[in-house]
Amino acid sequence: MNDSLTNITGIGPRTLEQLETMGIHTIKDLLEYFPFRYEDHAIRPLSEVQHDERVTVRGTVHSEPNLRFFGKKKSRLTVRVLVDGLLVQGIFFNQPYLKKHVKLGEEIIFSGKFDRHRLMITGGTMKTQDASSQGLEPVYSVKGNIKVYHLRKYIKQAFEQYRNQMCENLPEQLLTTYKLLNRREALYNLHFPSSAKQLIQAKRRMSYEELLLFQLKMQYFRKKEREADEGQAKKIDDDMVETFVHELPFPLTNAQTRVLKEIIDDLTSDYRMNRLLQGDVGSGKTVIAACALFAVVRSGFQGALMVPTEILAEQHLSSLKDLLEPFDMKVALLSGSARVKERREILHQLESGDINIIVGTHALIQEGVNFHNLGLVITDEQHRFGVEQRRVLRRKGIRPDVLFMTATPIPRTLAISAFGDMDVSIIDEMPKGRKPIETHWAKPHMLSRVIDFMKKELKKGRQAYVICPLIEESDKLDVQNAIDVHAQLSQALSDHQVGLMHGRLHADEKEAVMNDFAENKINMLVSTTVVEVGVNVPNATVMVIYDAERFGLAQLHQLRGRVGRGSEQSYCILLADPKSDVGKERMKIMTETNDGFELSERDLELRGPGDFFGAKQSGLPEFKVANIVEDYRTLEVARQDAAKLIYSEVFWNGDDYKALKEALEAEGVFNNDKLD
Ligand code: ADP
Ligand code: MG
Repeated sequence: MNDSLTNITGIGPRTLEQLETMGIHTIKDLLEYFPFRYEDHAIRPLSEVQHDERVTVRGTVHSEPNLRFFGKKKSRLTVRVLVDGLLVQGIFFNQPYLKKHVKLGEEIIFSGKFDRHRLMITGGTMKTQDASSQGLEPVYSVKGNIKVYHLRKYIKQAFEQYRNQMCENLPEQLLTTYKLLNRREALYNLHFPSSAKQLIQAKRRMSYEELLLFQLKMQYFRKKEREADEGQAKKIDDDMVETFVHELPFPLTNAQTRVLKEIIDDLTSDYRMNRLLQGDVGSGKTVIAACALFAVVRSGFQGALMVPTEILAEQHLSSLKDLLEPFDMKVALLSGSARVKERREILHQLESGDINIIVGTHALIQEGVNFHNLGLVITDEQHRFGVEQRRVLRRKGIRPDVLFMTATPIPRTLAISAFGDMDVSIIDEMPKGRKPIETHWAKPHMLSRVIDFMKKELKKGRQAYVICPLIEESDKLDVQNAIDVHAQLSQALSDHQVGLMHGRLHADEKEAVMNDFAENKINMLVSTTVVEVGVNVPNATVMVIYDAERFGLAQLHQLRGRVGRGSEQSYCILLADPKSDVGKERMKIMTETNDGFELSERDLELRGPGDFFGAKQSGLPEFKVANIVEDYRTLEVARQDAAKLIYSEVFWNGDDYKALKEALEAEGVFNNDKLD
């Protein structure tokens, strides 16, 4: 399977070069270069075909074909054909050679786009009886001189020459349990589907294989990481933790209690915690972080809380101080804007162990920051605590327990793909007494009514956020926007204090603005998305978002989560005028649900996994056949199977699993360097 492609009859060095630009280097690559879609060429009666739809028809040639050339290369072939009692015009561009296949009175099969009004089928091509009886024609993405039909020819040839080398890699037992096609048959049907049914089976088989291999890899890493640990099993004093929880201003929800127990269990066990904590906005993750930090410090270690922004760091610092200082724990902030002397002092105290808990941005784990005995790192509101950061810690010789708290509920299917090597805890319950936020979608021309509404709330003593349009993330333009909106609203609400917040403010200024807002000295805060995550001002009841269609649903939900934190009814108003149907649908979804998990599922459906996380940031694996949205059930099954296999005797010793292990080996999974 790793043979060079030149072994295939018909592929010479020139073609090889071209294929290599498409990432096809070996026989295996060629066989696994799958079509990205299939065109359905099953012949259908014209009465069922919509305007502008692609169709394949069979008809009798009714007129002599008419071929015209335009310049050297362009041509148009027109022919009238009787199809299902209708006289339609078939028009073929730049395929003059088709003319010889068209004979008056004979039958032809051809495809194209159907123009219902003018009875034309255009832009298609002629089909042989053979192609149309198969019904499905694979479409490949191709480059340069390689055309789809070349590729089909090479693949067919590869099947002929290498048929006997195409081995099964799944054990018999799995094939029978799930009634899966064998590998060769599945591959063949992906390229040359004999029917739609067979194609589905072929895809099912290959997705399972892909997802199983992927999950085996993740589970293997997870196992390895667990075993690799010298074990920093902490002695947690359960009674002390209980006392701490008891002293909180509120009882924990059931979900919080459950999650805290999962975390404490990890801390006390002798493998390293690698846990993702998911909880909707406002579900109370911070207090869980505080409990975990408390437990770790009590057992003699230091803790760190990493957050994405300085504003959030400030805020966490103050809530952690409130909760932990009464227990004689020293909490400090390592801020990017600290004075040199101050910073040196903090670094010194971190190294000596005088500081128990440090809060800061990711700069916390950079060079020059040394800990006395770091036992727990918590990251808040970040999608990904990169492999890179874990590596930095490991290089320093520390293997602390790690807890990731994510702001954005991630659909389960994405969570177990992107974070497949992690344990997952979910807070799926809101603290009691919260009133659901009312969300409204307003068109821009209703702005004055929205302003009146804000006035009314401010008169009652409440506060409001106004989030400005996102033009380009963290760019000058965003700031200018905020400044403009701030000027406009300051005028409209001259009886009130309107504050301004954006990324270009100095850290001191930001802090001052946030403090004034927290104390209601500022009644309304106009801001860019810097307040997106984590900020907690319970008296704020209104969130107005300009140009809401520019934001992702997850982000809108995050922004909305800044209100509804107190006992008063809160409101979120989306000022938006989306043009597309998807855009409108997204605004509607926002008004329909307050549940971050439901929202994320629907967002995923609308946008697909690629866009879900934004940019290439996702850390999501790329699959050739599997689609983690459509194949989420398979993904679940594969995950369970993988988790079982990785700890089973037969997997490591049984002959049945040899091929599977070889496939993993080929991907470099067992190459332990990857872990360090
Ligand atoms: P998030 O999960 O979005 O980070 P926070 O931790 O900021 O949420 O919590 C939101 C608010 O809910 C905070 O004001 C916090 O004090 C409060 N809170 C957390 N847990 C509870 C609870 N069990 N009962 C009542 N209020 C709670
Ligand atoms: Mg939070």
